[in-house]
Amino acid sequence: MVNLQGTVPNSEALLLLILGSMVGAVIAFAIARFFRPSFLRSAEDRDMATLTTLFEDAIAAIEDGFVLYDAEDRMFIANEPFRRQFAPYPEAVTRGWTYERQIRYLAEQGFIPGITGKDNIEQFAADMLAKRQSEFGVVKVFKTHDGRWLRQRDKKTAAGNVVGLRTDITELKEKEEELEAARADAEAAARAKATFLANMSHEIRTPMNGIIGMAELLSGTSLDDDQQMYTQTVIDSCSALLTIVNDILDFSKVEEGMMSIRDEPFDVQECLYNVAALLAPSAAKKGLEVCTDIPHNMASWFRGDSGRLRQVLINLLGNAIKFTSEGYVVIELTPQSDARGIVLRVRDTGIGIPEEKLATVFSAFEQVDNDSTRQYNGTGLGLAISRRLVDLMGGQIQLQSSPGKGSEFTITLPLEECSPPKSSNGPKLLSVAPAGLRVLIVDDLQLNRLILERNLSAWGVETVGVASGKAALALLKSEPDFDMAIFDFQMPAMDGMELARRVKDDPDIPGFPILLLSSVDRNFDKDTLQRHGFAAALMKPARFATIREAIHRVISEHSDHQPITGLAINKNAFENCRILVAEDNRTNQILITKILGQLGADVTVVETGREALDAFPNLGPDLILMDVFMPEMDGLEATCRIREHEVAHGLSPVPIIALTANSAQEDRDKCRGVGMTDFLSKPFRQKEIIDKISGHLAETTQTDLCQAASHR
Ligand code: ADP
Repeated sequence: MVNLQGTVPNSEALLLLILGSMVGAVIAFAIARFFRPSFLRSAEDRDMATLTTLFEDAIAAIEDGFVLYDAEDRMFIANEPFRRQFAPYPEAVTRGWTYERQIRYLAEQGFIPGITGKDNIEQFAADMLAKRQSEFGVVKVFKTHDGRWLRQRDKKTAAGNVVGLRTDITELKEKEEELEAARADAEAAARAKATFLANMSHEIRTPMNGIIGMAELLSGTSLDDDQQMYTQTVIDSCSALLTIVNDILDFSKVEEGMMSIRDEPFDVQECLYNVAALLAPSAAKKGLEVCTDIPHNMASWFRGDSGRLRQVLINLLGNAIKFTSEGYVVIELTPQSDARGIVLRVRDTGIGIPEEKLATVFSAFEQVDNDSTRQYNGTGLGLAISRRLVDLMGGQIQLQSSPGKGSEFTITLPLEECSPPKSSNGPKLLSVAPAGLRVLIVDDLQLNRLILERNLSAWGVETVGVASGKAALALLKSEPDFDMAIFDFQMPAMDGMELARRVKDDPDIPGFPILLLSSVDRNFDKDTLQRHGFAAALMKPARFATIREAIHRVISEHSDHQPITGLAINKNAFENCRILVAEDNRTNQILITKILGQLGADVTVVETGREALDAFPNLGPDLILMDVFMPEMDGLEATCRIREHEVAHGLSPVPIIALTANSAQEDRDKCRGVGMTDFLSKPFRQKEIIDKISGHLAETTQTDLCQAASHR
C-alpha cells in the first residue's frame, strides 16, 4: 500500500525552506524601509518592488496551494491554487484572518466532513490548534466536504512565521483505494480458490478410493492376462491421479498459509528408515538399491513434525528413484556441526539437473524436461511443496547436481534433540560387540560395504569387505578365520544364496554363521534359510541397531542354533555311529547332543568318569568324547581304565577325544600319556568338533576295512 501520510517529498521541504527565507527577506525589507532615512528609500523601494514581484511570481508558479502566516499566525498571503481549494468559501482565505479563525469558519461551513455542531467544532478547533503547536513539520491528510483529499504541511520559519503547502492528493488517494480494493479482491479470490481446490480434491478422492479399492479386489480374482493388464492400468492410473490431487491440495494449503507444523518428540531415524523401506520395493523393481547411512551413535529423538518430514523425504527419495536408472540412491542423516539439529541428504546417481535449472526446479509446476513428450510423469509440485515445508520447519533445502552424474539434495533442520518418550520401544542402548569378532562382508555395492564396515568398526568389530561371491570364496580359502559373515542377497554373477551354498559345500571352508541382507522381500522362512546355510536374514534397509542385535543373537545362538553350514559333507560318517559323551556340564551335554544328533549319530551321555567306564563294555562305542575334569572319576583315570579293559579283552582301541578348557601343551601331553587319541579345547566351534570326530571315524573305518581284508 502506498503510505501517503508519512511521505514528504524532499522537493517540498526544499520549497518550503526557500519560500520561508523569502518571507523573512520581504519582512526584513519592510522593516528597513520604515525605519531607514528617506535618502535611501527610493533604492530600497525599487528593491522591495522587485522582491515582491519575484515573490509573487514564485508563489504563483507553485502548483500546490501555498499560504503564509505571520508570527501571530495571521494569514499574510496565499496563492491561487490555495484559494481554489477553498473556493466555495472565499472568506476563509482573507488576509489577516488567523489560522484559528480560518479552521473554525471552515468547520462551521461544513467544509470538514463529520464535524458538525457547536461542541464538535469547538473540540475540533482545540485539537487542531494543539496539534499545530506541537506538530509543525508533520504531514496531515484530510478529506474535504466535496470528497477531495488534501495533504497539509506547515513549517515554522526561524522568525516565527508559518509557511504552508496544501497538496491535492485526491488522484493518488483514489489510486491507492483502487489498489487496496484490488488486493482484497485478489485475496478473496485466492481464498475461494483454495477452498474450491480443497473441496474438489475431497470430492475427487472419495470416488477414486472406490475405483482403486474395487480394481484391487478385481485384480485378486481370476482374470485372464488381458483383463489383469486392464485392471492394473486402472490401478496405476488412479494412483498417479491420486498423487496429483494430493500434491495440488498440499500446495494450495501451504500457499494459503493453512499448513501448520507440529512440534512433538519423534524418532528421526525411524522416520528415515520407514521412508527408505516404503520406497525400496519400487527401487528394487528398477534394480536399484536404497542405502541408508546413519552414524551408529547418532541421536534419534528430536522435536519436530515427523509427518511433514516424511512427506519431504518421500518426495526427494521418490524423485531420486524416478530419475535414476543405474547405481544407487542413498539417504544420509548426520548431526549438524554445531549440534543444533540435523542434516539430511538424499543423493542419487541419476540423470542430474542442468545448472541453469537448479534454481527453478523448486518453483511450482517447473520441470527440467517441460515438453509434451515427457519421459517422466509428475506434477512439478513436489519440490515446490518440499521447499515450502522445509521453510515452515525453519530449515533450508539446497541442491547440487551435475547432468549425467546425479543429484544431491541437502536439508538442514534446526531440530531440538529430546529424550525418547517412556512408551517408545526404539532401539536398545548401544550393546558391546562380541569380543574379537571378525566378520566378512560380501556386497557388490561399495557404498553398502563402506557404511557397514564403518559402523561395525566403530562398534568394535573387525571387518573385511569383498565385492563378489568369487572374491569371497577365494578369500575364505586363504583366510578362513571368520566368526561370521554378512552376505548381500542381490549380487551379479553369484547371489548371496549361491555363495552360501558354495561355502557350505566347500570342505576347505570352516563353518560360520551367515547373516543374509536382502533388499527384495522373498519371504525367507526359517527352513529355507537353514537349508541354504543362513543363520538369519534381514530386510534392507535395516537399522544398524537391528543388525547389531542380529549379530549378537546369531553369535550367541550359533552353538545352539545350527545352520547346516559345512555339515552335509560329513554326515554319512555319523549315521548310526555310537558316541559316548562323558561330560558333567549340562549345557555342553545339550550342545554336543544337538550337533551330533542332527547328523544321525547315536549319542549316549554320562556325567562322570565312573559312569563312562561302566557304560563302555555294553555300549561298545565307536568314539568317546571325554571331559577331563569330572566329579567322582576324572577323564584321565577313566581313559586309563578303558584302555586296560581293551587290552584285557583284546579290543582295538576306541578313539577317545579329550575335552578340556586347558589348552597348554602339558595338558595335551597328560592326555596323550593316559592313552587319549586327540584333544579338543573348549570352547570348541561346531565345525571343529565335527571335523575332528569325522576324521577319527574315517580312520577307524579304514582300519576296520584293512583288518577285514587281511582276515579274508
Ligand atoms: P515432479 O512431479 O516433476 O517430479 P518435482 O517438483 O518433484 O516435480 O521436481 C521438479 C523437476 O525437478 C522434475 O520434473 C525433474 O525434472 C527435476 N528433478 C527433481 N529431482 C530430481 C532428481 N533427483 N534427479 C533429476 N532431476 C530431478
